[in-house]
Amino acid sequence: MRSHPSRGVFLAVIALILALALPTWQPVPAAAFQSVTATLLPDPYATPLPTPRPVPIPAWRPALYPVPWALTVNDHFYFTRPIAADEVNWPLDAYRYTGTNFSEDLPHTGVDIVASPGTPVLAAESGQVIWAGWGLFRLTPGDTTDPYGQAVVIAHNFGYLNQPLFTVYAHLSAVDVVRGQEVEIGEMIGKVGRTGLATADHLHFEVRWGLNDFYASLNPELWLVPPEGWGVLAGRVMTTWGDPVFNQRVKVTNLDTRQSWWAQTYSTFKNINRDPYFQENFVLSDLPAGNYEISLPYVGRDIKTRIRIEPGAIAFFTFYGFRGFNAQEEPPFIPTTLPIYQASPTP
Ligand SMILES: [Zn+2]
Repeated sequence: MRSHPSRGVFLAVIALILALALPTWQPVPAAAFQSVTATLLPDPYATPLPTPRPVPIPAWRPALYPVPWALTVNDHFYFTRPIAADEVNWPLDAYRYTGTNFSEDLPHTGVDIVASPGTPVLAAESGQVIWAGWGLFRLTPGDTTDPYGQAVVIAHNFGYLNQPLFTVYAHLSAVDVVRGQEVEIGEMIGKVGRTGLATADHLHFEVRWGLNDFYASLNPELWLVPPEGWGVLAGRVMTTWGDPVFNQRVKVTNLDTRQSWWAQTYSTFKNINRDPYFQENFVLSDLPAGNYEISLPYVGRDIKTRIRIEPGAIAFFTFYGFRGFNAQEEPPFIPTTLPIYQASPTP
């Protein structure tokens, strides 16, 4: 059993991070805004986040595709949203997968969905509850100091590439299931809260592959089914020489509606995992199908390309520095065996 970082290291890293300047974030243009609880949304650790701002909420989103949804053998939209479709059920854009607001060694291993306290949390697919309650991060049942707070883990009765899949739901104000219980997709397993190291109400959601382990996460935005008619953008953003570019801001513009999104490449590859097919370091979900422009400032130049987001599918691009974009390149599928993740030595 791997030991986890000590509380002392946590506190030291928190102090360090608090001393660092936070990144600045561009406002996202949107027609309609609805004010949500906009305070710090840390997670699953005491994480300082960028300056909060209202979450843009379009007036209407289509219903979700049924799951499993996979238009090609490499798609794996196996999970429905853990928050009902009449609420905000998409990831908070300011703190996506791999964010290292907390520390380089402990990146954000999931996504956060902002919701009011008490909002029902739903099983993203059927399976068996293998964790219910306090203590998930250190695997010590009953530990009320655990950063995940009250959490549920479901072991699903299906897998991917012959390895099991798990989903994690954290910071719950109430847990409505018990260990060993079989649950159905959409069944309420708990309620949104802020238990653990969270200062605002939200759901922290993870997808784990191979093992129920902190170090076995994958990007949930590649696994949560899109709304009907919407798709996902994934890419590999590299230097001219093929090295990954971390924390690179990328602008994505819908050429039909002119709506723009800013998102960043992964902050780190440490203690997170890339999809075996896409080997991505950039993912942006919930994009209405259509024609898009991707632009990326690179060494003083603004490099652009066009790409089409197809409904219910993942559009893929590569970027290699001054060699520019390629939206036709096939992803570099790398067959993997268990485990895919690399745990770093614990501090
Ligand atoms: Zn989180």
